[in-house]
Amino acid sequence: MNAVTSATYNAVAGKLSFETQAFIDGRFVPSLSGKTFDTENPATGKRIASVAECDSADVDLAVRAARKAFESGSWSRLAPRERKKILLRFADLIERDLTELAVMETLDCGKPIMDSLNVDLPDSIETLRWHAEAIDKLYDQVSPTPRDVVSMIIREPIGVVGTVLPWNFPIFVAMWKIAPALAGGSSLVLKPAEQTPLTMLRLAKLAAEAGIPDGVFNVVPGFGETAGQAVGRHMDINCVSFTGSGEVGRLFLKYAAESNMKRIVLECGGKSPALVMGDVGNLDPVAEQVAAGILFCQGENCSAGSRLIVQEDVKDRLLDKLSAQFGGWKVGDPFSPETKVGAMIEEGHLKKVLSYIDIGRREGATVAFGGKRLHESSGGYFVEPTIFDGVTNQMRIAREEIFGPVLSVITFKDAEEGVKIANDTSYGLASSLYTDNINTAHKVAKALRAGTVSINCYSEGDMAVPFGGFKESGFGGRDKSLLAHDQYAEVKTIWIQLR
Ligand code: NAD
Repeated sequence: MNAVTSATYNAVAGKLSFETQAFIDGRFVPSLSGKTFDTENPATGKRIASVAECDSADVDLAVRAARKAFESGSWSRLAPRERKKILLRFADLIERDLTELAVMETLDCGKPIMDSLNVDLPDSIETLRWHAEAIDKLYDQVSPTPRDVVSMIIREPIGVVGTVLPWNFPIFVAMWKIAPALAGGSSLVLKPAEQTPLTMLRLAKLAAEAGIPDGVFNVVPGFGETAGQAVGRHMDINCVSFTGSGEVGRLFLKYAAESNMKRIVLECGGKSPALVMGDVGNLDPVAEQVAAGILFCQGENCSAGSRLIVQEDVKDRLLDKLSAQFGGWKVGDPFSPETKVGAMIEEGHLKKVLSYIDIGRREGATVAFGGKRLHESSGGYFVEPTIFDGVTNQMRIAREEIFGPVLSVITFKDAEEGVKIANDTSYGLASSLYTDNINTAHKVAKALRAGTVSINCYSEGDMAVPFGGFKESGFGGRDKSLLAHDQYAEVKTIWIQLR
C-alpha cells in the first residue's frame, strides 16, 4: 500500500471541480452584476477560483426564493419525519464526498488536511444527523389552564433565516446553523465568508441532490459590506445567525434595529483563559491540553485558550513542558499528514498576527517560544507557534483577540486572584480549569463567567451541549444541542375556550 503523503491530497486537489456561481432557487446562477471575486489558497497565496460576487440584488432574489419555498410548505410543512429522512440523506452525501470536501476546505482556508478529514467534516456530518434525528422527537406543550380552556404552546419555524459565516470553520460552524434551521422547517440564505466560499457552494449541490426543495437552501457568496449587510438589513429575513468578529456582530444589531427588528444571534469570539492551579500533580497532560487549546486551527478559533493563567509556583515547570509541546506542532504544508498548524487565512490576517507579536514585545512581554513568520518562500502565510511570558492582564496581547497561534502567560498567587484575572475580560466564550482538587473544580467552575467551563481538558464537548458566550462573546442564543432549535423557532400560544 502506498503511504499517504501530501502528494496524495494534492492529486485529489488537482482533480477537483468547483461550483463558482451563486445557488438560488435550486440553480447555480451568475451574480446579477456579472462580477466575480477570487478566492486564494492561504498556503501558496495563489488564486484557486473566481466566484460570483453577490450584492443586495442577488440577496433579494435569494430571499424571495426562500420566502416562496417557505410559504409553499414544500419544506416548512413537511412532517418532521420526512424532513429527517432528507437531512439524513444530505448527511450521507456529505460523507460520500468527505475526502473531496476536506481537500477543498483545506485548499480554501489553509487548515491541516488532518483537521479537515478528522474534525471539520465528520463533526459537520454528526451535527446534521444529530439535529435531523432530534426533530421528530421534540414535543410541544399543553399549558396548565382552567378546565374550560385548552391551551397549547407550539413552536413554528421562524421563516427565512440568513446566516453570515466565518472563514475559520467554513462548513462546520455553518452546519451548527444549517442543521437546526432546516430541521425545524425554515428556509436559508447563506453568506459564506469571502475567503472561503467553495465548500458551501458544493454543499448546495449536495442539498439539492438529497431532495431539499428548490428555494430552501440558497448560497450568496460575496463581501461583508455588500452581501452581508444586505442580509442584515433585508426586510423579509426573520432571523440572522452570525459568527465572526465583535465589530461586525454589533453591526447586525444595528441592521436589525434599522430594518425589521429581525432576530439576531451572535457568536463573536473570545480571549479564553486556561487556568492552572498549583495543586496539579502531573503537568504533562496540562501542557498537552493547553498547547492544543491555542494551536488547534492555527489559533484561528473563537474558543482558543489564548491566556494561560497559572499559579506562580508551577509556572516555570509548565512553561518548559509547554515549549516541548509547541515544538511538536509542525507548521507547514496543510496537505502534509504531519502538519498540525496550517496557514493564516490571508496576508492581511498574517500581518495582524505578526503585529500583535511586535506589540507584545513592545509592551514588555518576553517571547519564550517562536515569534516569527515561517516558510515565506512558499508564498503562504505561516506563523510560528508563539509563547509570551511575563504578560500582565492589562497588556493588549492579553485583552484583544489575536486569532493566531499566540499564547499569553500570566501568573497569579492564589485561586481568588486567578479567577479574578480569568474573568477580567470583555469576553466570556470558553474557559479551561486544571486542578486535582474536587472542591476547587466545583467552586471555580461556578465562578468563571463563560459559556463553557472545561475541567482538566480543552474541550467544547459534543453536539449534545450548547455553545455560546457570556458578555461580548455572544448574543441571543446558543449553537448546538436542542437549545439551537430555539434560535430558529417562533413560540405560539393557541388558546381554545371550550363551550
Ligand atoms: P468578520 O467579522 O469581518 O467576518 C465574518 C463575516 O461577516 C464574513 O462573512 C464577512 O463577509 C461578514 N461581514 C464583514 N463585514 C460585514 C459588514 N459590514 N456587514 C455585514 N457582514 C459583514 O471577520 P473577519 O474579518 O473574517 O475576521 C476578523 C476577526 O474576526 C478575526 O481576526 C477574529 O478576531 C474574528 N473572527 C471570529 C470568528 C469566530 O469564530 N468567532 C470567526 C472569524 C473571525
